[in-house]
Amino acid sequence: MDSCIFCKIVRGEIPANKVFENDRIVAFRDLNPVAPTHILIIPREHIASVSAATADHEATLGALLLAARTIAAEQGLEANGYRLVINTGNDAGQTVFHIHVHLLAGRYLEWPPG
Ligand code: 5GP
Ligand code: ZN
Repeated sequence: MDSCIFCKIVRGEIPANKVFENDRIVAFRDLNPVAPTHILIIPREHIASVSAATADHEATLGALLLAARTIAAEQGLEANGYRLVINTGNDAGQTVFHIHVHLLAGRYLEWPPG
């Protein structure tokens, strides 16, 4: 996707503060963090949202969660816990249509969210 901002980060065309990479996944710090730790975990492959995912994306979707687990461990978040969020569509406030998992930690996270 030429114009997708997260595809540009995957291709190295715009800078990002990366914390993790493997063959399927890239993770970097959110530009506007809403928690002391706020990391975005994205697949290298462009998938617009959970709603756009198909069975062909099964391995990529699994890799997203496994990367989240690895990053949480690397960042020392397991003791106090963390939250994974995937905003999907309008009412959830999705603004970037390249699927991404928000990894939030470092403060008490209210539930339900506002
Ligand atoms: P959404 O609302 O789609 O779930 O989340 C998109 C997230 O991407 C937002 O938290 C926003 O701050 C972050 N974001 C948008 N553009 C960029 C960017 O160019 N670089 C980084 N690091 N984060 C971005
Ligand atoms: Zn993309």
